[in-house]
Amino acid sequence: MSVQLSVVVPMYDEQEVLPLFADRLRPVLDALDTAYEVLCVDDGSTDLTPALLTKLAREWSEVRVVRLRANSGHQAAISAGLALARGEHVVTIDADLQDPPEVIGQMLDIARDDQVDVVYGVRNDRSSDSVFKRTSARAFYSMIRRISGTSAQRDAGDFRLMSRATVDAINQLPDHNRVLRFVVPALGFPSASVGYRREERAAGRSKYPLLKMLKLTFDSVTGFSLFPLRLATYLGLGGGVLIAVLSVVLLLAASGGNTIPGWTSTVLIVAGVGAIQLFCLGLLGEYVGRMYTQMQGRPSYFVAYDSLAKSVEGPAAAPVPMPTVTPWESPRRVLGA
Ligand code: UDP
Ligand code: MG
Repeated sequence: MSVQLSVVVPMYDEQEVLPLFADRLRPVLDALDTAYEVLCVDDGSTDLTPALLTKLAREWSEVRVVRLRANSGHQAAISAGLALARGEHVVTIDADLQDPPEVIGQMLDIARDDQVDVVYGVRNDRSSDSVFKRTSARAFYSMIRRISGTSAQRDAGDFRLMSRATVDAINQLPDHNRVLRFVVPALGFPSASVGYRREERAAGRSKYPLLKMLKLTFDSVTGFSLFPLRLATYLGLGGGVLIAVLSVVLLLAASGGNTIPGWTSTVLIVAGVGAIQLFCLGLLGEYVGRMYTQMQGRPSYFVAYDSLAKSVEGPAAAPVPMPTVTPWESPRRVLGA
């Protein structure tokens, strides 16, 4: 029987929570009356997770275990799962029970009834997260939204359901280090959302230390925006204006004989050259940025239907040309303009 639903679960050193997770997930999936697979992606765990997964797969025939050779990170583990999932719908969910498995049925119903491609799980209550996590998450989402102009939901993490067409589209993207919670909304496919309460981690420790959170932030910003490259241009322009004002003031002071001889010219030259250098650096950044977006080669569209080929579920049936300008949305947007 073909698989209707794949549940992709990234796992890194989750020996404490894995049995609890399986106990809670199984009744939910069995009750769905849908052919499913649970695709556990072991992200190079060094604890008992691999052994526990082997045992679990023996007891629960729908469990499929994929092991990555080395710890590659949460996003990479999910990407690996998406590449291998066979289901018509695919759910990604964390193993630590912070995302309640009971919501999966609701997501599937919405996707089928409303004919949407993506159903986001949106945390409408984060009171179980630490103050640091909540504040940093809020700052993170608002910064990314402002800089990149993506329409990512504020409190949508990586708990979401996607249609086969969406998963095929994602698998086709050539980006490395993609941050799925921004990549998926940027596709712009029809979507809906389900609110849920973010629970506390059921057992074990968070696998997201500050360093990994910083990496996620950098990947998100640089994956979607050329704003950081443009900073030099803006600073150079700002510096130029400042110098213009400063030169009037300094020349007035110098003509009144209120300065040490040589000081005015030195300051003006140093500041002026600094501004010019920054501006030129920014100019260089513009060209680097163009090469970067060109190299990303993100398809500019995905075909949903072709009357000749009947209904085309994914992009595979249609040749997707490489864009000549930039990514999928308007180049202006990606360039941060
Ligand atoms: N995870 C992973 N690889 C990593 C880090 C985390 O596969 O390098 C998994 C982890 O096992 C969990 C999910 O990603 O299922 C989310 O991680 P975690 O709960 O530690 O993050 P937090 O909720 O604290 O942000
Ligand atoms: Mg967690």
